[in-house]
Amino acid sequence: MRRSIFRARTFGALVAAVLFAGAAQAAEPSCETLNRLYDNRYVGDFAIDWETFEIGFSLPLFDCVEGDKNYVLAKAIYDLERLRPSSENEPDWYAEVSALLIEPGNMIRYIPEIDLAPNSTARTVRDGDQAAIFILDTYVHSTERLRPAYVLVHEAFHLRRDDPGHVVCVAGVNAGKRVCDERLGGPATLSRGSGNSHEFLFLLDVRDSVAATPEMKQNAQQQLQYLADNMFNSVDADASHRYGLKNR
Ligand SMILES: [Zn+2]
Repeated sequence: MRRSIFRARTFGALVAAVLFAGAAQAAEPSCETLNRLYDNRYVGDFAIDWETFEIGFSLPLFDCVEGDKNYVLAKAIYDLERLRPSSENEPDWYAEVSALLIEPGNMIRYIPEIDLAPNSTARTVRDGDQAAIFILDTYVHSTERLRPAYVLVHEAFHLRRDDPGHVVCVAGVNAGKRVCDERLGGPATLSRGSGNSHEFLFLLDVRDSVAATPEMKQNAQQQLQYLADNMFNSVDADASHRYGLKNR
């Protein structure tokens, strides 16, 4: 009996060591692993619509090829999962996004495109007590590694009942379009903002995470700069310095 407990513990430590090594190297999951996670947890935890995503009933649910909508979404969620913190003081984006989606009436749906938003990658639409994040073909065909993950975080925060929504951009490449957040300030200000603000907070975590790949970190830095330059109507004087960005 003692012996078997000892062996179980040793085995557990070995598994933990292997898992930790995997996390530290930020290895990509196998197709089989991704399919099992999607089937066992992601579809439920993120209220993914079986119908529009054309999800079958037996594994594998999808092939791991670029341009497959289930594969792209599974990888985006895996990116949230791999960033899950080891201590409870850090934000858990997987848990936060999941909590917003599993509220009754919410779900992720797929639609190839939306006429009213031809350049969008995803769109969150509310209709009474129901709300959906629509994943569009532009999202499915993203060429940037991290884009599906940060777009998912951005859209999920539009599901909040107290989401302040976007304002019309006064400058930058989106001037005149209602896609900006009011103010790029400290973390407390950002946590009260809309989609761009939460996307920004997420990207800061990616940039600092040991679990993110070098490509993910590079994507994060570029998108942080893009957001600071084009997606906020005002930037606090110390914000660029604080977040390691160039002044606009
Ligand atoms: Zn938005």
